[in-house]
Amino acid sequence: MPPEEGPRDFIRDIIDEDNRTGRFNGRVHTRFPPEPNGYLHIGHAKSICLNFGIAADYKGLCNLRFDDTNPAKEEQEYIDSIIEDVRWLGFDWKDRLFYGSDYFQQMYDWAVQLIGAGKAYVDDQTADEISNSRGTLTLPGKESPWRERSVEENLRLFEEMRDGRYENGTKVLRARIDMAHPNMNMRDPVMYRILKLPHPHAGDRWCIYPMYDWAHGLEDSIEGITHSICTLEFEDHRPLYDWFLDELGVYHPQQIEFARLNLTYTPMSKRVFREMVENGTVSGWDDPRLPTISGMRRRGYSPAGIRLFARRIGVAKVNSTVDLDFLEHCIREDLNRTSPRFMGVLRPLRVVIENHPEGKVEEMEVAVNPEDPSAGSRKVHFTNELLIEQEDFMESPPRDFFRLAPGREVRLRGAYLVTCREAVKRDGRVVELRCTLDPATRGGNVPDGRKVKSTLHWVSAAHAVGAEIRLYENLFTVEDPMGQAGREYTEFINPGSLEVLTDCKVEPALRALGPLDRFQFERLGYFCVDPDTTAERLVLNRTARLKDAWARKRDKGQGAPQASYARLGKEDRRSSERGTGRSSSP
Ligand code: ATP
Ligand code: MG
Repeated sequence: MPPEEGPRDFIRDIIDEDNRTGRFNGRVHTRFPPEPNGYLHIGHAKSICLNFGIAADYKGLCNLRFDDTNPAKEEQEYIDSIIEDVRWLGFDWKDRLFYGSDYFQQMYDWAVQLIGAGKAYVDDQTADEISNSRGTLTLPGKESPWRERSVEENLRLFEEMRDGRYENGTKVLRARIDMAHPNMNMRDPVMYRILKLPHPHAGDRWCIYPMYDWAHGLEDSIEGITHSICTLEFEDHRPLYDWFLDELGVYHPQQIEFARLNLTYTPMSKRVFREMVENGTVSGWDDPRLPTISGMRRRGYSPAGIRLFARRIGVAKVNSTVDLDFLEHCIREDLNRTSPRFMGVLRPLRVVIENHPEGKVEEMEVAVNPEDPSAGSRKVHFTNELLIEQEDFMESPPRDFFRLAPGREVRLRGAYLVTCREAVKRDGRVVELRCTLDPATRGGNVPDGRKVKSTLHWVSAAHAVGAEIRLYENLFTVEDPMGQAGREYTEFINPGSLEVLTDCKVEPALRALGPLDRFQFERLGYFCVDPDTTAERLVLNRTARLKDAWARKRDKGQGAPQASYARLGKEDRRSSERGTGRSSSP
């Protein structure tokens, strides 16, 4: 990990205080606990950077742990992708890769202990009956008719559940707490359900599986986690985790909740991304339009750029929504420092330089990265037949168009000043420009100091190689696709989010790059090599335009990373309606 100056936030304040009082003997041990039921997204990246970042700052440890308690939704593919993504972000868990499912036996033994203490019981009610008897925020719940079973009967039934004697949904194990508790999570929550399904990690050893609320605190306890950092939805679950750990008399981590990341113009949910992958709205979990880690990687975002973003947004106690342009701004900042420059033309227009001999090839020396002199220079070929961008020429330009037009002079980057003498048309369309160059301006220098208003990118027609270039726009047409009253997010999918250009021409040097290599096309933006590239076909993705929409907002005084409009109320309401999204009913 490159050194990144240490951020300050309320979580680090809590840790400092714990270190001062010696609460955990100076230990700092965090974890990132994904459920392997989908690919990770930028929200998870925030949590990863926070947990691994804190461990690094305090010379502590951070575990990667799969919270794999629900085999109905979990798959090996997701486990593999999560490992790849966390590593790609630049973090290392050494030998501390854990699976919650490896603790199933311990959890089972602890459940038996609670039953023995009269603190858990087997309930024969159906899922609907249980959910209908929970009561509401204002009304107490109703006690199950099976709540008073004897310890002996409960022990026997629970063992029989484990042995596969009952069908799915016919029995559950519940904690025996208080059906009138003001916190709904404390109303005899379900601890185990019967699920006759093999598990991607534990195999077919189990047919009862622990609920998330039962398992999660135990996993933290078993691993000796000191600070269990999670998103705000779990604040109301903390009393339950504490209750379990207290009743068992085992080690307690400190849970700390922070605000989840939301971004404008995108949902932030594995469930929604899974739907979009399954119904073909996107090409896969790694579609460059998705803010999944694999999508961002394929789009050309860099790990350092994502880490920079995570550090800049910080952590807070109140949910809010971050401006998508701010994410791009951070990515661009990193890419600007690190990307080699090339030239490429998206929609080519032929230019013939009349006073440059046919067949003569000049090698022009240009900087690989003006931001980084150590990157050196590269050679580009200049000939009498060039290609420039169609939109860089206008036959009858308006006043504010400074690029090429008949009779006008511009600079070709790193080459010469050229003047357009004639636009050749076929069927009313400009198909070729006849230009002349000024030999005194070789390298783009102007010895007499005369002004040219613009510099164009170009390639030599004879040397350029063909490429397919994929241009991406926001996947959604509204800032909050999940928050449009009474309407589905699917109604706001942007039909123009992907444009594929197949006749692009680029510098031949790009052929030497490997999959996912990142670079800048001068004047156009940041790009990377898509893994669809073959020996015959070069495929490139536009990562981001050069234009920094967020910096413009900032300069106009609107550029807080958080979107500036009032949406907090909506976000808060939504996260409480959604609950935790975990398997919290049998
Ligand atoms: P989703 O809601 O997209 O399905 P999740 O919360 O179910 O995500 P988990 O696998 O439980 O996904 O997430 C692992 C960790 O990442 C958890 O500690 C969770 O709090 C954190 N996390 C998930 N989403 C976000 C987010 N948007 N911002 C910050 N942290 C998040
Ligand atoms: Mg969730």
